[in-house]
Amino acid sequence: MKALVFLEPEKMEIRDVPLPKCPPGGLLIEVKACGFCGSDMRTYKSGHRRVTPPWIIGHEVAGVVREVGDGQNRFKEGDRVAVSPPVYCGKCWYCRRGIFYLCINQRELAQHWPGGFAEFQAIPPEALAFGNVASIPEGLSFEEAAISEPAGSVINSQEMADVGLEDTVVVIGAGPIGCFHVETARARGSALVMVVDVLEERLELARRFNPDHLVKSKPDSSHVEKIIELTNDMGASVIVVACPAPEAQQEALRMAAKGGRIILFGGLPKDKSEVALDANIIHYEGLHLIGATSFSPKHQEIALSLISSGRIHASEYITHDLPLERFQEGIDALLAGTALKVVFRP
Ligand SMILES: [Zn+2]
Ligand SMILES: [Zn+2]
Repeated sequence: MKALVFLEPEKMEIRDVPLPKCPPGGLLIEVKACGFCGSDMRTYKSGHRRVTPPWIIGHEVAGVVREVGDGQNRFKEGDRVAVSPPVYCGKCWYCRRGIFYLCINQRELAQHWPGGFAEFQAIPPEALAFGNVASIPEGLSFEEAAISEPAGSVINSQEMADVGLEDTVVVIGAGPIGCFHVETARARGSALVMVVDVLEERLELARRFNPDHLVKSKPDSSHVEKIIELTNDMGASVIVVACPAPEAQQEALRMAAKGGRIILFGGLPKDKSEVALDANIIHYEGLHLIGATSFSPKHQEIALSLISSGRIHASEYITHDLPLERFQEGIDALLAGTALKVVFRP
């Protein structure tokens, strides 16, 4: 079969590789669409500690079941499925309490098992028992279903922060994750949703999700004042840091209302992850810092339902829908900041 193989940083290649076998208890799916994620970009640029090349990455997968392994009876041939990468152990302290996203033995498709930038992907039985394989609701395209994965993490983090009716929400970072935050905050009933970004192009892309305000961040930090002003001098009650910039985390403290919740959603580069945060602001303003990554199976289902009911406009995210062979175009567009979500069709 045809696959896009990661060889070394900044080098991927279309290759002919053996067709994977359908594992007993698992599935063999024909991949119809696979999103290119921010973490795929990091792997592409600098490798990944859990990825040993040559390796097939790609973990935002939607496809059709072509073969069903012995003993597997949840899905049948021809079913349309969305597959997200986390595979939980089902046994640890967190899993036993249903807090799957904190599983201490979490493994991932596209890391421990080959990923979805290929014509076919084998889904191991573990992923069906304690993972995220969900039927695609009728009416959703494969491309729309493929991008339910990042939306799942966003939904989990806003659940953790209990975003709701009276909240004034600032999202720092207008990439696809930031835009998912905008739509999710809306769906949860937030009173005001604002987006901050340093790039005009990205703010323009975020405009299609109708935030109440788009604010350009400036080196003089005047955007912090702007947010305070837009929230009747109170500051925002929820701030989502959805970009890999330490300064954004520091600014989040200064934009926050008393009692505000700050979701640290974007990971920071390894050598920049120690950030000086003014602990007195956290202390005296009663702020809550919430670290968030990953999600539980229910969040993927909620994501698919938000997409299918039009509360998340999945098709609006997909600026580049390309055959797998043209992967480089997608990567270049992301690097140039002119793409929101890139989806490949193997
Ligand atoms: Zn992803
Ligand atoms: Zn576990």
